[in-house]
Amino acid sequence: MKLTFCGAAHEVTGSAYFLEACGKKMLIDYGLEQGADIYESGELPVGASEIDYVFLTHAHIDHSGKLPLLCAQGFSGTIFATKATQNLCNIMLRDSAHIQEFEANWKNIKAKRAGKEEVLPLYTIDDAVAALACFEGHPYNSMIDVADGIQIRFVDAGHLLGSSSIEVFLTENGISKKLVFSGDIGNTEQPLINDPSYITSADYVITESTYGDRAHGARPEYVKSLASIIQKTFDRGGNVVIPSFAVGRTQEMLYFLRQIKEEGLVTGR
Ligand SMILES: [Zn+2]
Repeated sequence: MKLTFCGAAHEVTGSAYFLEACGKKMLIDYGLEQGADIYESGELPVGASEIDYVFLTHAHIDHSGKLPLLCAQGFSGTIFATKATQNLCNIMLRDSAHIQEFEANWKNIKAKRAGKEEVLPLYTIDDAVAALACFEGHPYNSMIDVADGIQIRFVDAGHLLGSSSIEVFLTENGISKKLVFSGDIGNTEQPLINDPSYITSADYVITESTYGDRAHGARPEYVKSLASIIQKTFDRGGNVVIPSFAVGRTQEMLYFLRQIKEEGLVTGR
């Protein structure tokens, strides 16, 4: 068994782990780096066509966003994910490809004017469609036989619809080891999403630590605070614009707005 960190090590976004075991080559997540490229992610140690399987923790683009690129580069194996992650990726990978194409087009308009070389998108919608065809959706908590000596199980990580921690069970030369890839782990008592499940045993844990250096403190009363901001703005004759783009966060925002409406917490308009 050999594990290589190919991304999201000492930074957030661009999650990618390369695992070799039982004569197979696997990736756990293959995400796009988002924001400033402070630490360049490592190249995959092998060509995309040599990879047999991908185990995907959840649909967020910093975990799934390079899967269309993997397919464009020759991957034709199976992508294991929960059913809800598969459904969300159907929207999000197409959308990500659309953004890649749109941005390349926009850069090309400028490049043409400046007499510079044409920019190619990182991947296209066709590549996203090819990646979606590799998906195999599974329920939580069921043991999945991947190959001889390799089993996996998705456990609810409480982070996003379909999000999971992945337990990887490996048996090589009569020795069994269990790895846990945490994926992103959610908070407790959130609207819409279950609490994260606890995994009680592992030989190796590979965990996220996005908020590892801070304490969230007491939870604010989101609905009350949001309602008061909206009320204050309306009273002054203004409009509220909420730039919420992260899948998961947006659904929470809509949920709170519905509650504000239902309970009549904002008046006068
Ligand atoms: Zn996430």
